[in-house]
Amino acid sequence: MWSEVNRVITERQRFIITTHTNPDLDALGSELALDEYLRSLGKEVSILNSDSVPRALRFVDPERRVCTFSPARHQGKIDEAETIFVLDASGGWERVGRIGQALAASAQRPWDRATVICIDHHPDPIDFAHVSVVSPDAAATAELIFDLITQSGGTLTPSISRWLYLAILTDTGSFRFPKTSLETHRIAASLIEAGADPMHLYKQVYEQYPLELVRLKGHALNSLQAEGNGQLAWCALDQDTLKAYGVKSADLDGFPGLGMQIGGVRVSLLCVETPKGRIKVSLRSDGSVAINQVAAQLGGGGHPSAAGATVDGDLAQVTAKLVADVVALLESTS
Ligand code: 5GP
Ligand code: MN
Repeated sequence: MWSEVNRVITERQRFIITTHTNPDLDALGSELALDEYLRSLGKEVSILNSDSVPRALRFVDPERRVCTFSPARHQGKIDEAETIFVLDASGGWERVGRIGQALAASAQRPWDRATVICIDHHPDPIDFAHVSVVSPDAAATAELIFDLITQSGGTLTPSISRWLYLAILTDTGSFRFPKTSLETHRIAASLIEAGADPMHLYKQVYEQYPLELVRLKGHALNSLQAEGNGQLAWCALDQDTLKAYGVKSADLDGFPGLGMQIGGVRVSLLCVETPKGRIKVSLRSDGSVAINQVAAQLGGGGHPSAAGATVDGDLAQVTAKLVADVVALLESTS
């Protein structure tokens, strides 16, 4: 599976690693682990993302290896890059965000184009890379990075182990989402053996929230609505509410799944107004119904049980339309 990727790694010296907009811990953990592995081989590596690391996730990158793309500062790096790794984002350059256009141009340079390698676990990949390793059965992109490093004779250093463990922990919803497999647990065991401390890492992710965020979670729980005979739980949060609690829309990790706690709920929907007045839609399902098609209809995407999109429109109208669409979907699959 990795021979083509390894051939490129051996032949090339200068690498860029990037991922999707609004990076999560699978995106960042995979980037940081791959970065350390490539640097251990003596390669020059830059991690360049369209969006900055959300405040709550900054602990993952104490050495500030992850840079937020600025055309003025980074165009030189892009021009020099021989290989571009796109992780956790097989939706193509658009999914990669602002930096996607600059990278796409360097991948098309007629004189010495950069090789684009896509590694991901999302279904329905777009054919935009020169080399693609896309495995929708993997619970996290980090499982694939684990495989690449271990199959290629690399060392699972304690920091690589921590990054990959954090990525898998969060992308599997603490080892409970449908794609969590025997292999996921085997990989986790290897990572623990190599230095990842499950208790400490769990605490870093799930027990370090600011008080305002936990209070907003209380508000969100209080505002949950049930629809479709209790099979859909939904909640909408506007900017005024976020401001009143002092929380940013980018920091709502974990909120989309709150409705799944309720017995009988098959789908949980969260709609959040962003500072730019757009609506960020997040969908979760218990696995009995695939909700990524709903997100795809809005120009987004994702996994059958966790998907999302960002759309223009009015919060109440977007939410009402989605509630109706999901109820219809639930009725057609009950
Ligand atoms: P979340 O709701 O937590 O933002 O995203 C859940 C999953 O949906 C992500 O892991 C990602 O796979 C997918 N997703 C969220 N937003 C988008 C989007 O705008 N475009 C695409 N293609 N996928 C998205
Ligand atoms: Mn992922």
